[in-house]
Amino acid sequence: METIEQIARALGIPGILELMSEPVDETQYLRHKCDVYNAKSGRLAGLDCPICKNKGNILVVEGGEERMRECSCMEKRRSLARIQASGLGYMLESCRFDTYRADESWQKMFLSKAKEFVLDHEGKWLYMGGQVGAGKTHLCTAIVGEFMRMGLGARYMLWRDEAAKLKAVVNDDVEYNRLIRPLKTTPVLYIDDFFKTQRGENGKPAFPTAGDVNVAFEIINYRYNNLNLITIISGEWTIDEILRIDEAVGSRIYQRTKEYCLQIAPDPRKNYRMR
Ligand SMILES: [Zn+2]
Repeated sequence: METIEQIARALGIPGILELMSEPVDETQYLRHKCDVYNAKSGRLAGLDCPICKNKGNILVVEGGEERMRECSCMEKRRSLARIQASGLGYMLESCRFDTYRADESWQKMFLSKAKEFVLDHEGKWLYMGGQVGAGKTHLCTAIVGEFMRMGLGARYMLWRDEAAKLKAVVNDDVEYNRLIRPLKTTPVLYIDDFFKTQRGENGKPAFPTAGDVNVAFEIINYRYNNLNLITIISGEWTIDEILRIDEAVGSRIYQRTKEYCLQIAPDPRKNYRMR
């Protein structure tokens, strides 16, 4: 004689088999469903996340229901995407501390200060100013990379480009705030070529306009008042020159940087200094 199970199988009604087995705990069932989903691999590139297996989301049981949640790696992925979109992507790979050539004593000192800053950034900023071609962008990019590896969201701001966009929409409150807000609030902001405009007659950048100063003050002042925000700035101006351009902007940068205000003289072998 056939059992009910055999009949059910023959008729292709597996549902009956489930009904016949022990009553399944609903939460346990949902958990199992989540585990199965969470074990699947996704196709997001850029970084390897052990939590979501590169799907960007995870399935969890909450209040007896299954819910899709964004994985914590997504903030970091967005940050990576922004940096890549801004052109720092390739640089993050090539501009690391271990690829920085430190032959001269001033280069060794800059490298060691940059490393020190990564571990000692609480309430502090770093400014690297002075002449072109001294590896400022390399070291600052390496610092950003270290912070990103710690899981902090970062934003790269090439001054000339982003300031131009902001100045163009200064009369459109909504658009202006949409553009400036992430620069004010990102956990790590790297401003490259700060206050750089087209070159003046003496080879120095031309003096920034009032529009530039307004944009700078809004970003710098916001970040100055929020101690947990890390700001890294590089540019051709020395801190004294920035103070002359605008006292309010310069003094805030100076107060936050202090021991990490690094300046490169025209001939750094003869003269480098830290203020
Ligand atoms: Zn993830």
